[in-house]
Amino acid sequence: MQKKDYIDWLICEDEEKLANLWKQADEIREQRVGNPVHLRGLIEISNICTRECHYCGIAAGNEQLERYRMPEEEIMACVREAVDYHYGTVVLQAGEDFGITKEWMSGLIRRIKAETHLAVTLSLGERSDEELVAWKEAGADRYLLRFETSNRALYDRIHPPLAGEESDRIALLKRLREIGYEIGSGVMIGIPGQTYEDLANDILTFKELNLDMIGVGPYISHAGTPLGRDEAELKASPEEQVPNTEAMTYKVIALARIACPDANIPSTSALATLNTATGRELGLARGANIVMPNLTPKKYRAMYEIYPAKACIDETAADCRACMHRRILSIGRAVGSGRGDSPNKGKSAQAA
Ligand code: SAM
Repeated sequence: MQKKDYIDWLICEDEEKLANLWKQADEIREQRVGNPVHLRGLIEISNICTRECHYCGIAAGNEQLERYRMPEEEIMACVREAVDYHYGTVVLQAGEDFGITKEWMSGLIRRIKAETHLAVTLSLGERSDEELVAWKEAGADRYLLRFETSNRALYDRIHPPLAGEESDRIALLKRLREIGYEIGSGVMIGIPGQTYEDLANDILTFKELNLDMIGVGPYISHAGTPLGRDEAELKASPEEQVPNTEAMTYKVIALARIACPDANIPSTSALATLNTATGRELGLARGANIVMPNLTPKKYRAMYEIYPAKACIDETAADCRACMHRRILSIGRAVGSGRGDSPNKGKSAQAA
């Protein structure tokens, strides 16, 4: 597909045509990554953040928020739950928290690798080369870093760098690939100022980067953030502005599956936040093959509220597991076993 074709799909509202898009994406998903839905246990290990991303509820400037960093033993208890629940992967996510040091994180990764067979995915933001290399050497397998939007001017507007530094997530993803990580990225859908052409370019960028994992979700406005406060003025013209809707999210999931047939694609919490009843299932039926049940202890969940009314905030890890299993089985899919590595694994180094 060319850029024009992606744009046509993104603006399409014809239900019959869209039914064909869902069918095509679902068939490709079945052929390339199969029926199983893999479970990645998400542990939100710290909500401390030095960055001022204009869209994010845990950005440094949010003084209303109580901050936490989980101690190692608490993280290990969650890791053991992942093993008990037969998850193949733990995802360790945090704000850009420099209290998570190279040494501490390396020790934690080594311990998880020594005590379990889990794959370890990191999602810790833009960290130094030295840290990223050390964490790979300690045994981390994958790194998630959304580039948020491929429109550089829009990115600069919503994602200020640290003082005296540059922020180039696309360059960092290429570097992560070189270091040897499986790489995951993605964008928010419907950022004020994001046009259909931008979103089509985002999908082309997924393909160019040959991503192993693609996570997309609707931008959800947070009243305590600069973008939440000023979004009316920042929006593109009504003909050009991408809406931050559930329907648009399904289109991007389906188009990402067609553009990158082998990628692991989650049906995300942001989507489930817009449609708690069936959002996850519809994402899985329209190209996705991953879900990320939350393992974060309940006492921390409300403090990791990157956007309001985030799905699953009142649940325990056991609730999340039961709910995901029920949803997966209800649509005739199987719960994946094993690590659910990218089919690109092994081919990635040549492709990079
Ligand atoms: N600090 C790490 C980073 O920046 O990659 C990981 C944590 S960050 C909170 C994870 C993701 O949350 C971001 O990449 C962004 O896409 C998403 N996010 C933040 N605020 C959001 C919002 N208001 N609506 C939807 N997604 C949001």
